Amino acid sequence: MLQQRLERVELPGRHRRQVPFGERADEKIRFFRPAVRGAEQEPLAADAGVLCHEGDDIEVRSEPVSPLRPSLLDPLFAPVTALPGIGPRFAKLVEKAAGPLVLDLLWHLPTGIVDRRFQPKVAEAPAGRIATMRVRVERHFPGRGRAPWRVRCADETGTLTLVYFHVKSAEWLERLLPVGSLRIVSGRVEHFNGQVQMTHPDHVLDAAEPAAMPLVEPVYALTAGLPLRSVQKAVAAALERAPELPEWQDAALLKRERWPSWRAAIAAAHAPESEADLAPEATARRRLAYDELLASQLAVALVRARTRRLPGRVLEGDGRLVRRALAALPFQLTPSQRAALAEIAGDMRSGRRMLRLLQGDVGSGKTVVALMAMLTAVEAGAQAALMAPTEILARQHYATIEKYAGVETVLLTGREKGKAREAALAAIVEGRTKIVVGTHALFSEDVAFRDLALAVIDEQHRFGVEQRMALSEKGRGVDVLVMTATPIPRTLQLTAYGDLDVSRLVEKPAGRRPVATRAVPLTRLAEVVDAVGRALAAGAKVYWVCPLVEESENADLAAATERHQALANHFGVLRVGLVHGRMKAAEKDATMEGFARGGIGILVATTVIEVGVDVPEATVIVIEHAERFGLAQLHQLRGRVGRSDRPSSCLLLYAEPLTETARARLKILRETDDGFRIAEEDLKLRGAGEVLGTRQSGLPQTRVADLAAHADLLAMAQDDARLALERDPELASPRGRALRVLLYLFQRDAAVRFLRSG
Ligand code: ADP
Ligand code: MG
Repeated sequence: MLQQRLERVELPGRHRRQVPFGERADEKIRFFRPAVRGAEQEPLAADAGVLCHEGDDIEVRSEPVSPLRPSLLDPLFAPVTALPGIGPRFAKLVEKAAGPLVLDLLWHLPTGIVDRRFQPKVAEAPAGRIATMRVRVERHFPGRGRAPWRVRCADETGTLTLVYFHVKSAEWLERLLPVGSLRIVSGRVEHFNGQVQMTHPDHVLDAAEPAAMPLVEPVYALTAGLPLRSVQKAVAAALERAPELPEWQDAALLKRERWPSWRAAIAAAHAPESEADLAPEATARRRLAYDELLASQLAVALVRARTRRLPGRVLEGDGRLVRRALAALPFQLTPSQRAALAEIAGDMRSGRRMLRLLQGDVGSGKTVVALMAMLTAVEAGAQAALMAPTEILARQHYATIEKYAGVETVLLTGREKGKAREAALAAIVEGRTKIVVGTHALFSEDVAFRDLALAVIDEQHRFGVEQRMALSEKGRGVDVLVMTATPIPRTLQLTAYGDLDVSRLVEKPAGRRPVATRAVPLTRLAEVVDAVGRALAAGAKVYWVCPLVEESENADLAAATERHQALANHFGVLRVGLVHGRMKAAEKDATMEGFARGGIGILVATTVIEVGVDVPEATVIVIEHAERFGLAQLHQLRGRVGRSDRPSSCLLLYAEPLTETARARLKILRETDDGFRIAEEDLKLRGAGEVLGTRQSGLPQTRVADLAAHADLLAMAQDDARLALERDPELASPRGRALRVLLYLFQRDAAVRFLRSG
């Protein structure tokens, strides 16, 4: 049990003061309002600093905290540079391919194998196959000029020529292949002018130590400049450091599934013997996937348990502000907007805390629903906040809300600075401002509310479950409404949100018209530019979305800049704007503004326009290299047009040849604009390896688990997590303690803190 040192302090202070929040490694200080009518006390905003009024009493409790991350995980959380042979330069490349930590290398699972088990005689070695052969070195033919260095070798059946275009030094090659020695060489066989040859063999070994030849090698996703061999070595070193961890899985389950320990599973996952070992169904991968899913379900369950433990509050409005705002709107609410509002009001009125997901396609009118909910909180005398994932979106929400709210509203992003920010913060903390709209800047420590009662979070899959909790900790019994435009299949919803209540906006978005969608090969770019020219002449606005270049922001930017230049040359520099993620916010705003209301006719953009941007005059969207985007993301992008009564079109420009998956994606997109169908198809199409689609669609990212292939495991993990917490709510039993290790392993530390004794 907890040992608590309780003390009561009187805080002096003329107006208000922030109570400093300090935390030593072994101690956690929390602040409580004095007990009210015997209700369980709720800690005041812990990480945020606490607002106190003159004469307030608060209780300060200092609690011992269990040590943070178990030290046995330390080797895994070391930077990759801690591994032998990885210096800073190489570390950068590894970081790009896998991540900065030793742990990231472990999760960087092989995507293929090189099989060297085929060991023919030279005369029987077929061209194109990887083969391992035993030969005697006969003679070196040093290269002259641009001719390669050749080494003639042979076995009893014929001659094998090894070809080297790059030779570090003559000594090096002569030591590797001394004339007269027996060597085992492995690589891809070529036939050239009737000769059997091998260019730059992958391995050359002394025949006396054949065991050193890896007969099956794992292949990893790489990045430019990073040799496969180096990744293999780094992973091997990481595996060597991987400790045995306490078993967190249920013994009966392990037995039934015949799963190895975590350590054995991760080692096996990196030592595939066949293609089958790479599949999501492979035993080792299933075990690891289950670990990951269990960690995520446990995190979700902990957040939820904590939410249940904390009392909610009754927020009952008198309807005055809502009625006034409704009357000001230039339209009637749709039936599902009304239904959603009734559900939300019901939650707010009840003493439980609301945790509700508002799901609706782009443009289905979620903002208005959020506004009415926020006004209800304001009617009840409290404050409300809306958090958006990007500054553009925050501004857009703010514009709508400010227009119809009829109460004091403020925008808070990373941009507001100095005096203006001070003034805004003061108005929030004093309660003069009723509604705050912002980006994650709302998390910032110096943002304190007088009485935050409702937190609305837009497009929240970009924020973690734990972050959502953090915002709601800035108030007392805060109700949480999460808005998302991604129609998330049920299975994924569990991972991303746990069991939230759900309201759906089902009508086709207001004033939406189907968007004529065509796929056009990039070779016909000139025709597309002509079509854009005609649209411009007819007064249309055009989005031009630039290719997404995997793993490289720089290349993304270069591609967008280049396209912008070309279009500006063609259409005139004043008519073509550019927005991208690296721009200063002010520039971005100015360009967006120029596109929405000024003379800019074509907006070239990286995917910053992905979510929520609303320019009804835009009727054409061109998506360059559409084959590189995920399905859900293409759907979102297409949703930027078709927002007025004029016909709209979407041109998907693709580079040939298309992979089968990419072809399927473009086809689905042409066939349907039903967000739910698209989401389900997306999940089906996305293989475990195709992280890109996941990341781009904004769905939760996983390390090992493949949410389509491991759907059965997800359901199991959910039950398992609930049951484990029911039996052992503090995760104090031996299995519970092992589960804590699991949470840390998957970097769900924030969830551990939601344990009372965490
Ligand atoms: P979302 O946030 O769901 O993407 P918005 O709330 O931004 O959608 O709404 C998209 C547009 O539709 C806005 O211009 C909004 O004013 C308008 N709108 C919202 N609800 C209705 C409605 N019931 N009837 C007509 N237009 C609506
Ligand atoms: Mg929106």
